Amino acid sequence: MAMEANTTDLDTVHAFSCGNPLCAETISRTRSWHRFCSDDCKQQASIIRRAAALLNVLADAEVLKIVRGG
Ligand SMILES: [Zn+2]
Repeated sequence: MAMEANTTDLDTVHAFSCGNPLCAETISRTRSWHRFCSDDCKQQASIIRRAAALLNVLADAEVLKIVRGG
């Protein structure tokens, strides 16, 4: 999507995505001190990050097998 140079909604311009990759929420500038839209997202992102680090050594097929319970 192209940037609109004449936008009047500064909050939209400065909004950014929630830090949780599974969350589609955007956070407005008024909450820009916060990387996540909610505490749940903060916890989820933390789990994802740790899981990704652990699973990084495995092949995708192995990861799927483990996540799906063998
Ligand atoms: Zn979120």
